[in-house]
Amino acid sequence: MTTSLRQELIDTAREMNRSGLNSGTSGNLSVRSSEGMLITPSGLPYDQLETTDIVYVEDRGEGQPRIDGDRKPSSEWRIHRDVYRARPDALAILHAHPVHSTALACLRQPLPAFHYMVAVAGGRDIRCAEYATFGSQDLSDHVLEALDGRRACLMANHGVLAIANDLAGALTLAQEVEQLARSYLQCLAAGAPAILDDAEMDRVLDKFKSYGS
Ligand code: 13P
Ligand code: ZN
Repeated sequence: MTTSLRQELIDTAREMNRSGLNSGTSGNLSVRSSEGMLITPSGLPYDQLETTDIVYVEDRGEGQPRIDGDRKPSSEWRIHRDVYRARPDALAILHAHPVHSTALACLRQPLPAFHYMVAVAGGRDIRCAEYATFGSQDLSDHVLEALDGRRACLMANHGVLAIANDLAGALTLAQEVEQLARSYLQCLAAGAPAILDDAEMDRVLDKFKSYGS
């Protein structure tokens, strides 16, 4: 059971890089599992990963989590732990450093409602979390704040994070955010895009509830 989840983590991490969303050992992925999560190890190339390299991190509330595995968990394990704690809707989390999302995050700008598909992350915009050092508790706090009512956020001078029901959904959402960031940067280079108003975004968010079903 957990072997297949571990393999799914590895396959999704590889697909994340193969599709051009991410490169090298940047980024990290996890899935919720029993009392904690299964998470990618820190700093290991995805194409070398074996199922035994995936780390189980048990959330024991206050204090240090119990780590089960031969490897160190991703340096961003605090973000993953805190998102699972705060967001029952999160069953999988993907963090990456895609070029366009990261460029926008380096400008410390959110994705406003320049395109209706911004609603794909669950709200009228996609926020940019404040900057803090990678792997820090402050960064986790900022990400949680930016995710309020959203399934994705940018991370200042860093990258993007997406949550979903499963790993495939988290990858798709991160790819969608990357496409939006790419379009938005093109808009900014050419002028000032029109921004959809709140009433229109609320209509879109409402339509999304039954889209495709
Ligand atoms: P890890 O290899 O420790 O997961 O770090 C990559 C990263 O993107 C840190 O933000
Ligand atoms: Zn990162």
